[in-house]
Amino acid sequence: MKTIGIIGGGQLGRMLAMAAARLNFRTVILEPQPDCPAAQVANAQVVAAYDDPEGLDKLARTADLITYEFENVPVAAAERLASARPVFPPPKALEVAQDRLVEKQFINGCGIATARFHAVDSQADLGAALADFDGAGVLKTRRLGYDGKGQRLFRSAADDPSGAFAALGNVPLILESLVPFEREISIIAARGLDGATACFDPADNVHRNGILYTSTVPASVAAPTAEAARRAATAILEALGYVGVIGVEFFVLADGSVVVNEIAPRVHNSGHWTEAACVVSQFEQHVRAIAGLPLGDPSRHSDCAMQNLIGDEIAELPNLLAAPNVLVHLYGKAEARPGRKMGHFTRLL
Ligand code: AMP
Repeated sequence: MKTIGIIGGGQLGRMLAMAAARLNFRTVILEPQPDCPAAQVANAQVVAAYDDPEGLDKLARTADLITYEFENVPVAAAERLASARPVFPPPKALEVAQDRLVEKQFINGCGIATARFHAVDSQADLGAALADFDGAGVLKTRRLGYDGKGQRLFRSAADDPSGAFAALGNVPLILESLVPFEREISIIAARGLDGATACFDPADNVHRNGILYTSTVPASVAAPTAEAARRAATAILEALGYVGVIGVEFFVLADGSVVVNEIAPRVHNSGHWTEAACVVSQFEQHVRAIAGLPLGDPSRHSDCAMQNLIGDEIAELPNLLAAPNVLVHLYGKAEARPGRKMGHFTRLL
């Protein structure tokens, strides 16, 4: 029986480990927090920091192949592992996804639209960049932002940018033009070791407080928009020589065209619906891809809506369990802190 090493011990690692077990793979989790969500359902855990050489070497000794469940895995750690074992998705995907500037340049290099952008390395750069966008834009840290953290919105030239560079920590930033989107969709796509690709249907995503709240499928977009999103996701997979599942988030404009917001080189929250509405979920698809198995059929047998259970929304659990056509998935987190993803449910429609 082969063992898959997973860097990161959160809910995505947990769901990957569960899918791996169904296909006769053992899993070992690298995560500093003992008894993390993933380790609760895996075969073993290496309790160590993601950049701890001893922990990484132990993971490489224990696992036959290695993957990850979050995009901020240190690239040096992924490369250290890659010298000993196959690491999928390729560490290059981490490099691209970890820096919003590199990411946008890469996506544009694939011939795919993004928001316009300027690198911002000082308060003076910010003034010049805002002037180019008529005073409107979204200022983001280039690295380590997630769920809307490390961002500042400028709606118009009336918003005063004074002190914004310092307020975001005097770190390298990017100013993006404000995209006048009608909706946000995402595509969960996969590429196998043999180069085969498969896309799940696009989901309509709604965020609350910067955190994904619901994903609904089918998305309310016309067929050409869905096709453009599929083509873009597939082109990104090819350009990265990717193996595994990727999440690609898009803005949909009034004319139906799509603009990539960001990519996540991993299974993605907006793909959780696949476990209820497809025969092969995004988690199994990822395991199949990285293990060199044939990709599963990504077609959807039901319409559905996935909703995250954030913080004390977990109190809804008894009602959800009593409802028909609802698949509940909990993450094994003891304490329901505000903003913490405790689980999700998918309602078949
Ligand atoms: P992000 O962390 O980049 O995914 O951004 C979080 C959310 O902020 C997105 O889901 C959008 O709703 C909004 N947002 C981010 N970038 C832009 C942009 N350039 N234009 C308009 N809205 C944006």
